[in-house]
Amino acid sequence: MSSKQRIVVIGAGFGGLSFIKKIDKRNFDITVVDRNNYHSFPPLFYQIASCGLEPMSISFPMRRELRSKKMRGVSFCYGEVSCIDTLNRTITTEYQTLHYDILVIAAGTTNNFFDIENLRQRVCTLKSTSQAIRTRNEILLKLERAAIEHDPDLRRRLLTFAVIGGGPTGVEIAGALGEMKRYVIAREYPSISPDEVRVILAEGSGRLLHTMSEASSEDALRDLRKLMVDVRLNKTMRSYDENDLITFTDGDTIEAGTLIWTAGITAETFNFKGSAPSQTSGGRLSVDEYNKVAGTEGIYAIGDIACHSAPAWPKGCPQLAQVAIQQGKRLAENLNSPDRRRPFVYNDKGSMATIGRNRAVVDLRHVHFSGWFAWITWMYIHLISLLGMRNKAVVLLNWIWSYFTFSSSLRLIMRPSSNPSSSNKIRS
Ligand SMILES: Cc1cc2nc3c(=O)[nH]c(=O)nc-3n(C[C@H](O)[C@H](O)[C@H](O)COP(=O)(O)OP(=O)(O)OC[C@H]3O[C@@H](n4cnc5c(N)ncnc54)[C@H](O)[C@@H]3O)c2cc1C
Repeated sequence: MSSKQRIVVIGAGFGGLSFIKKIDKRNFDITVVDRNNYHSFPPLFYQIASCGLEPMSISFPMRRELRSKKMRGVSFCYGEVSCIDTLNRTITTEYQTLHYDILVIAAGTTNNFFDIENLRQRVCTLKSTSQAIRTRNEILLKLERAAIEHDPDLRRRLLTFAVIGGGPTGVEIAGALGEMKRYVIAREYPSISPDEVRVILAEGSGRLLHTMSEASSEDALRDLRKLMVDVRLNKTMRSYDENDLITFTDGDTIEAGTLIWTAGITAETFNFKGSAPSQTSGGRLSVDEYNKVAGTEGIYAIGDIACHSAPAWPKGCPQLAQVAIQQGKRLAENLNSPDRRRPFVYNDKGSMATIGRNRAVVDLRHVHFSGWFAWITWMYIHLISLLGMRNKAVVLLNWIWSYFTFSSSLRLIMRPSSNPSSSNKIRS
């Protein structure tokens, strides 16, 4: 038996990984639990969905990562945590129960469907690698179906792709679909005219990218329109029925065979036994400036699932990779040196979004720029943020290849077989 304190980390995303890299393994026994056996890179999920990248190039096997120098000594357990028992200090997955002295919750968020009926079953989403693969399959399936369909109404429905939510993910996937319409359809689907394909992006507020500057919103709107994306602002979706009819709160309707939902997120949830933590809007766990979860002992939360309000961020820090990484690092430093604890202060390094080749918008603290240089900046930042040289090289090669050839060997409909004798659940 080890005399070290045992830290259990739920989630090997940006926050969890940054924490386990920095925590002193000589003083603690660390176990990280995740429902996937890999770390993934959400900012590029939309490229999986739009056939720009293969899933493997932005997925990183945990067991390989844990062999690296910074993470050596950390144990990995595969499983989905359902229950946290704060009295007995245990967490439970479908496979086991683990004891902790210190628990770090870094489980991130999931889709929020705002209780709109049937949405969960019917829409495509982009919150995980497997959801992005499913979205890719749906897009390709609709194109293949339309290519052999003669009924004009059905054809129109199959070739209408609606994206709901004009944040960075919505803008990026709408831009990628706009590019597919412009550069790919005519070459690869001779029986479909690009003019038949409709890409609609609906946003509930009056501007796109509302967490970024007004200049970025305007540039993104202009660039999407150049890609023939039909952007509709001040449109809040009310329902999506079994006949593929989208109804907005103002009564407008659109028939769309594919609906990509990027309009909302909510924190991952757990069944708490013992003292339940206090939560804020979106189910986030309230934490203090040291990321300790309010109302609990020995439990910390970092990243998207944590809500730390500061004067600059009264509703909590934004749910971004940089916040998760910085919180993970600071929490590890504070646990390594409890006598020299420092409160967390978010250092906002800026934000960016891309709208297709040669087009992106970047907001730094006092500077906004867009166009080709912004696109190069976007690619550089995403490339250096990927783990591992091999993945960086594969992604760069893919980008260069597609830039010059417009071709991609990734437009494959690949679905898992449903073997009735298999007990493996395929997650969506
Ligand atoms: C499509 C998309 C695009 C994005 N683009 C950007 C961007 O361009 N820039 C940016 O800064 N941010 C972006 N974000 C947000 C960014 O990805 C998040 O802020 C960041 O991932 C949060 O890190 P995290 O560690 O809190 O959670 P995550 O990185 O989401 O990691 C959570 C981990 O917990 C695991 N997990 C969840 N529940 C359980 C459970 N019950 N049991 C076990 N394991 C569990 C998950 O499998 C996952 O590995 C994007 C997000 C998405 C979805």
